[in-house]
Amino acid sequence: MSEGGQPTFTSLGVAEPILRALNEVGYESPTPIQAASIPHLLEGRDILGMAQTGTGKTAAFALPLLSRLNTKSNNTQMLVLAPTRELAIQVAEACQTYAKYIPDFHVLPIYGGQAYDSQLRQLRRGAQVVVGTPGRVMDHIRRGSLNLDNLEALVLDEADEMLRMGFIDDVEWVLDHTPAGRQIALFSATMPSQIKRVAQKYLNDAQEVKIAGKTATATTIKQKYWRVSGLHKLDALTRILELQQFDAMLTFVRTKSATEELAEKLSARGYAAEALNGDMSQQQRERTVERLKNGKTDILVATDVVARGLDVERISHVLNYDIPYDTESYVHRIGRTGRAGREGEAILFVAPREFRMLRSIERATNQPIERMDLPSAADINVKRVDRFKQRISETMDSTDTSLFLDILADYQQEHDSDPLHIAAALAHLLQGKTPLLISEREPRPERDRGDRGDRGDREDGRQRRDRRRGEFSKDARPLKGKPEVAMERFRVSVGHEHGVLPKNIVGAIANEANLKAEFIGQIEIYDEFSTVDLPAGMSKEAMQALGRVYVCGQRLKIESVANDSGRRPPRNARNKRPHRGRGDRPAPKKQDK
Ligand code: AMP
Repeated sequence: MSEGGQPTFTSLGVAEPILRALNEVGYESPTPIQAASIPHLLEGRDILGMAQTGTGKTAAFALPLLSRLNTKSNNTQMLVLAPTRELAIQVAEACQTYAKYIPDFHVLPIYGGQAYDSQLRQLRRGAQVVVGTPGRVMDHIRRGSLNLDNLEALVLDEADEMLRMGFIDDVEWVLDHTPAGRQIALFSATMPSQIKRVAQKYLNDAQEVKIAGKTATATTIKQKYWRVSGLHKLDALTRILELQQFDAMLTFVRTKSATEELAEKLSARGYAAEALNGDMSQQQRERTVERLKNGKTDILVATDVVARGLDVERISHVLNYDIPYDTESYVHRIGRTGRAGREGEAILFVAPREFRMLRSIERATNQPIERMDLPSAADINVKRVDRFKQRISETMDSTDTSLFLDILADYQQEHDSDPLHIAAALAHLLQGKTPLLISEREPRPERDRGDRGDRGDREDGRQRRDRRRGEFSKDARPLKGKPEVAMERFRVSVGHEHGVLPKNIVGAIANEANLKAEFIGQIEIYDEFSTVDLPAGMSKEAMQALGRVYVCGQRLKIESVANDSGRRPPRNARNKRPHRGRGDRPAPKKQDK
């Protein structure tokens, strides 16, 4: 255990090569769902985990199950079923990252829509871990190309999503075709009765794992959130720092490396900022906290673990740069301000895909978190001009400028220049390369910006993938190899408010209409709905099937924007044909199921 009784990946028993990889990725400590799941899974027990995306659930099952893998054999020992091809790829990528230092490790994602021959070739070569969508996994079991005789562990990831997408029978079929002694980890954000039934039928003495939610917040803390959009998180933070009166600020990020990167970036922008993370010795940490106490530094960028229990009265602001993994961490974080009865303010950056977590925090703390707007460029500029003028006054009042007065008097005589022009030229010199004023960046369209707000920051493979997926736009997608098909814009009844990501829409459409992902065009996510470009003239059956699909708890209710006469079509929705072409549209037919 680390100090304070917090578990570490080592104390939980994660295998050595994986610890090495984790250190490289910069995970400092296990998230609550990881701390709760890892020991059970390492002991070979079944678990029923209530966890949504963003809590660290992938690592919660991947770390212990990969720790138990026997890489001397090429047999498939671990199978993960995931609702969409995108999730399957993400999970496979995460496994690859965590298993980087396990020799002879092979993971294989298999999903509908992908050519069989390459899957068959790779299955023949052998993969200890297979991650797939239920339909395709079923196909391979039937064909005999996926042999599960030596399966040790089966993971059902996002089980409720698989249920919503109509895969539950397939999931049960796969479960029935696995050896009796295999271990099962079932993860689901919610526990509808059908999932409970599956759990009761197939899990053996399952340990239930969920993250505790009961918490209370100090009422002296004002809580706000900013929806990450249009600006990089770093730019947003500096705008806040410029305009907000703050004494000291504690900023939270997820990884050790991020503490250092953000502290460095803030220092480069002229703020007294330092990192506080678990790689530092106790003594170094104490010295850093001391510098915050005595005002030598103003901003600490920390991870959850090291900031636990931090008690510095000066902290007037807590800024959640990265959203926490659970509501309890949020309460711990914001409790670092408002100390000794003082007022405090907590700001939370929330990317659209993290809205579910925001709502969970509000529910658990029983307090609404108010939405905030960032200071505008105009607000910032007024402030900067004021400050500039103030500096002139201060210098004139308190500094002996006689030497420069003489030189400039000379200069003025020699050139017969206007003194104001001379002053302006000097101000320009003084300002250097950094412009005094900023300009409001053209806000990006509401197309899902995903967590693009933090593009300036380090991102892991998974985030990068999310980003790529968030940019299924004409201009952002590589056109190479892209089919040329006339497109039509459709509206679906699921948006930011439901926590939807482009991948959910892509997954549902790809699976239900059996449309290859490359035929799914631009996706724009709005608050209450989204638009998606699909090949024009989709069959009636495909449309009906799609209309019935649930994504993030919402019926898709797909309709053509052209028919949507009652409502104003969203921006850019009219007459847009992202991929003009021969119209060789794919015939939508079911295949993955
Ligand atoms: P998931 O809930 O599996 O979708 O994971 C959410 C994100 O958290 C992913 O980007 C992971 O890389 C990241 N993550 C998972 N566990 C940790 C950890 N212990 N420390 C820092 N980041 C983590």
